[in-house]
Amino acid sequence: MSFDEILGQEDAKRLLQNALRKDAVSHAYLFTGPAGSGQVKMALTFAKAIFCTASKDDACGECLECRKVEHGNHPDLTLLRPEGASLKIDQIRELQRVFSYRSEGIHPKVYIIEGADLMTVQAANSLLKFLEEPPAPAVGILISDNSSALLPTIQSRTQRIPFSPLHPDRMLQALSGEGVPVPLARCAVSLSAGIDGCRELLAQNWFAEMRNLVLQLAKESLGKSSSAVATAGSKLFKTGLGEHLDILFSMFHLWFKDMLYFLYRKHESIVFIDQLDFISKAARQRSTEQWVAYMEYAAESKRKLRSNANAQLCLEQFLIRLEG
Ligand SMILES: [Zn+2]
Repeated sequence: MSFDEILGQEDAKRLLQNALRKDAVSHAYLFTGPAGSGQVKMALTFAKAIFCTASKDDACGECLECRKVEHGNHPDLTLLRPEGASLKIDQIRELQRVFSYRSEGIHPKVYIIEGADLMTVQAANSLLKFLEEPPAPAVGILISDNSSALLPTIQSRTQRIPFSPLHPDRMLQALSGEGVPVPLARCAVSLSAGIDGCRELLAQNWFAEMRNLVLQLAKESLGKSSSAVATAGSKLFKTGLGEHLDILFSMFHLWFKDMLYFLYRKHESIVFIDQLDFISKAARQRSTEQWVAYMEYAAESKRKLRSNANAQLCLEQFLIRLEG
């Protein structure tokens, strides 16, 4: 993976490659912006380019240094991510220990911290000292989709590299180029801020299954029968789909929005594009206000789920409200 192979994020690429060309790489960066917009891939590519012996401002992908990064066993690269809900002080201490030794080459060592805003206060304070006085030449890359939650003192000691959500059309284009069926691609793009996030969703074998289930439930809930509720719960939780209820509610949200897109003649925005026939008949069975209310039910269910409400109950309440 070289910078050229990363889709979009031209500003970030330019800033990082300029620093490499001018031998002006900072000792610490903060990659901000929505999760899934390619920060991790960019960080790994940047690390590779710092180590690369064949190219000054990119990663050749061929040299020993590049290949070690690709195989995940470069001795001068450390990757930290939250253990459970937070990044703990022990992880930062271990980083400090590893970085007390100089690198094996002439390049600085590199560390990448994913979910940097999830550091505990102690971990953050410990990292702060490390940022001020790294024991050996080091480049740190902090990644956060909620950078305002970081200590201001950490923010001010890092160079900010902003990432922006990719335009959906560019992601759709890229995904269909990779052979992803259009209906699935549209769904993934609507649920993720970046192409990596999309690919991650599409790689889950439950993703297509979930989409089918949402369609089935959405169609049943328009009919008179209330069997949907009874069967849905057991089916979901038997198949393991129940672990991804947040996605289910997000998909329902998209489905109801599609009805509005149809009513407002914005067909090009419809996500469940393979269901256009059904949507054209269903959209007028409820009022605009009702579709908007349904969208709100879906959003509300997602919030409840996030605050640890009982998942099965969340789903049942949601489906009952659709029938009412
Ligand atoms: Zn190389």
